[in-house]
Amino acid sequence: MNPPQIHPPTEVAPQGTPWHTLPPEEVLASLQSHPEGLSEAEARDRLERHGPNVLQRVSGESWLTLLWRQVNNPLIWVLLASAGLAITLGKVTDGLIVLAVVVLNTLIGFVQEFRAGKAIEALTRMVPENATVLRGGDKVTVPSSELVPGDVVLLASGDKVPADVRLLAGRNLQVEEAALTGESVPSEKSLAPVAASAGIGDRTSMAFGGTHVTSGTGTAVVVATGGATELGRISQLLSEAVDLQTPLTKALATIGRYLTLGILVISAVLLGVGLLRGYGVAESLLAALTLAVAAIPEGLPAIVTIALAVGVQYMAARRAIIRKLPAVETLGSTTVICSDKTGTLTRNEMTVQALWTPSGAYSLSGVGYAPHGELRRGEQALDAPPEDVRELLVAGALCNDASVHANHGSWELTGDPTEGALLVAAHKAGLKVVEWRARQPRVDAIPFESENQFMATLHEDGQGGRQLLLKGAPEVVLRRCEPRDGFDAGTVHAEVDRLASRGMRVLAVASRAFPASRDRVQPEDVAGGFQLLGLEGMIDPPREEAIRAVKACHAAGITVKMITGDHARTAEAIGARLGLLGEERAVTGAQLAELDDARLRETARSSNVFARVAPEHKLRLVRALQHEGQVVAMTGDGVNDAPALKQANIGVAMGITGTAVSKESADIILTDDNFASIAAAVEEGRRVYDNLIKSLAFVLPTNLGLALILIVGVAFFPILHVAGAREPLLAMLPTQLLWINLVATVALALPLAFEAREPDVMKRPPRHPDAPVLSGFVVMRTLLVAVLMCAGAIGLFLWEYHTEAARSGHEVAVREAQTMAVTTVIMFQIFYLLNCRSLRDSFLRIGVFSNPFVYLGIGVLVLLQLGFIYLPFMQAVFNSAPLKLEALGLCALVGALILPVISVEKAWRSRHARHEQGSGPRLAPRLPRRATVT
Ligand code: ATP
Repeated sequence: MNPPQIHPPTEVAPQGTPWHTLPPEEVLASLQSHPEGLSEAEARDRLERHGPNVLQRVSGESWLTLLWRQVNNPLIWVLLASAGLAITLGKVTDGLIVLAVVVLNTLIGFVQEFRAGKAIEALTRMVPENATVLRGGDKVTVPSSELVPGDVVLLASGDKVPADVRLLAGRNLQVEEAALTGESVPSEKSLAPVAASAGIGDRTSMAFGGTHVTSGTGTAVVVATGGATELGRISQLLSEAVDLQTPLTKALATIGRYLTLGILVISAVLLGVGLLRGYGVAESLLAALTLAVAAIPEGLPAIVTIALAVGVQYMAARRAIIRKLPAVETLGSTTVICSDKTGTLTRNEMTVQALWTPSGAYSLSGVGYAPHGELRRGEQALDAPPEDVRELLVAGALCNDASVHANHGSWELTGDPTEGALLVAAHKAGLKVVEWRARQPRVDAIPFESENQFMATLHEDGQGGRQLLLKGAPEVVLRRCEPRDGFDAGTVHAEVDRLASRGMRVLAVASRAFPASRDRVQPEDVAGGFQLLGLEGMIDPPREEAIRAVKACHAAGITVKMITGDHARTAEAIGARLGLLGEERAVTGAQLAELDDARLRETARSSNVFARVAPEHKLRLVRALQHEGQVVAMTGDGVNDAPALKQANIGVAMGITGTAVSKESADIILTDDNFASIAAAVEEGRRVYDNLIKSLAFVLPTNLGLALILIVGVAFFPILHVAGAREPLLAMLPTQLLWINLVATVALALPLAFEAREPDVMKRPPRHPDAPVLSGFVVMRTLLVAVLMCAGAIGLFLWEYHTEAARSGHEVAVREAQTMAVTTVIMFQIFYLLNCRSLRDSFLRIGVFSNPFVYLGIGVLVLLQLGFIYLPFMQAVFNSAPLKLEALGLCALVGALILPVISVEKAWRSRHARHEQGSGPRLAPRLPRRATVT
């Protein structure tokens, strides 16, 4: 075995030290640390020397890959082909413009996707990662990034190991090291040093950063942080790639492919028509390709990515961090939210208000962690607790991992709020917890696990003996208690029910003598033989905002179900206050376990409150609900909730109290652990989807309209003989079509990604997850607007051409008429954009100025269009001509026609929808709503 090494003070933990071969004391000595951890000052000093405990990660996707993705797109190939053809046919300017547009489009797509990817990556890093450490003997929670070599950290099941550590103490500690070794079976840890030659997977005396504690507890000293950890060494290989694909982007890509194919077929037909009508081969080919260029919605992919990225950022601002992009869409179709109770629907500010012992019932005043409050029996205040109450309170404070520190008149809690409440209760009754902890030090413990519903600790009893304390769910504790004077199980259960039906979480506390010779508790030691000391009942009121959010969900056709580990009566009382429950009772985990799959599905659908539920029940419930066709969002915080979180359509983890394992399995993380944030995320999800539909409803008609303008021209416009050559009359040149399709459409469609929520967004049923993106609504709207746009542009073109041709000749007339046609389409787009701001209502209802980006987009486009009309350089490129003011006014007037037409269409559609309940882009829910509160 290697001797301990003495290191210069600047480097407390040199790389290469074989920590796994050294006994714990030597590791501590070598790191100049102690079992009580470092002092705050020393930790600060080391942080400066060693730097933060973070891994430098490389972004998963190189910019080249991203760039290639933009280019490798059928639409781009069509554009490139048409540019090539135009150049070959001698239309060099046209060809170059198409090429310029390809470059511009690729760059815009590239920059936007790059930025969206970066923004989403940054969001995933916003989830705080904390570690519990001992600093100068005090247990404190610090950001994992502040850990330094020599820090003593506490590990518990569900934790992510925050750095490379050498174990100092442990109990049944098992760590899953797949992140490092690829091995998903957890490895059992122990304190004994291992051989120097042991590989990472066999270093059982160590735990490595990035791995996960699957069970047990441990104390360990940090030996390496950040890039010096084993994970840090391989982190260059780790990618943080964010997949920007979602079901919607995939569906759109498929639509894009079919559209391209369809357009190519129509182009071929147009080629034939051109040839038949006597166009030259070159002209016919060019017209066919121009059609392709005009009709393909090139800007759409960029618009969709941006809308999703904007949605993700809005959600983060509302405290829901998206880990997986598809969740943004799924949120919009969520039909059921299954939520934990404690901390999510309730405030997690536990306050013990009731005590019960054989000598009777007592109450404690005060709310939250305020240290003021008094012990009362009936109306009478007590100066000191009676003996049995003292025993109960002391046991509750000893069998406890939390700690509280006085801070400006209130208590600051480290640890589980349930346990914090027991400490505060002891303080209120005048007991000094620190002194009791010193008098009866802990020897061993079986930590609390949700599945067991109890915790046991072994203490010296101060008189040379040992005492085993047990606290937990009353049924679990009572089962292990001997009958005792004044306690018959029936009385105790009646008391538990009485407290629980007031919405209280009730814990029972018991003790038993333990052989002084033994200092380890075995599972069989907690199987029985205890004496019940009493009950402590604590309130944890529902959050006001959760009550409002539940109502909002009900109005939105979403069923809310509460799934809690708590007692059935407690769950019912809280469920009733939240408006989840009427007269019916809660269903318990034990009842669920007895149901076959068919009855489970029925129960899962019809009940809204589930109590004493274990993690495996959650998984069954999610599956049952999904089998019924529901889209399920499920919350979870424990290590064993991971399977249910993964199975749910949307797994929701808690940012503050959730275990690292649950966070890594989730699609969304709530930074405030609050149910209201799930409802907010659903609202945002619906908004994002609405905005995508708005973008589609805006972009597609323009493309079809442009295609129609060209088709009508080729099919019906005369072929003129100008200066001895045949020249087909066209309402728009290819370059002009491109100008509208790319510049105008993108400038106007992008602001729709920022569009505000529709007023009824949470008043309509969830979207059907399989509803087609190109709904009947989008198709109808596309046809209507395209025809109108085509008619307006061609009408004005012909009018202007015929008026002007007589006056100034063919050449000037064509240029002016084409400029007018382009301007008319742009005007149509501007007015239609205002219409698209709301799918169903008039844009006046969603607030004229609620989305300033729309006006920014319009402003930019108006300037660009003025440039198109009046700047000589643009005139040369686009073959445009200056227009008179009256002509401009006429374009605006014809463009404005779209406003009344779409208003009539909206009115007709909403009347129709009222008859049919949910036609158009939305669908009626598949199941009757089970909201018990309206
Ligand atoms: P929810 O599922 O609503 O969030 P929860 O996760 O807090 O509730 P659990 O933590 O699984 O529920 O607790 C289940 C039961 O275990 C509680 O009702 C309580 O009786 C008991 N319990 C909770 N915390 C402790 C603890 N620290 N020590 C002992 N028993 C506990």
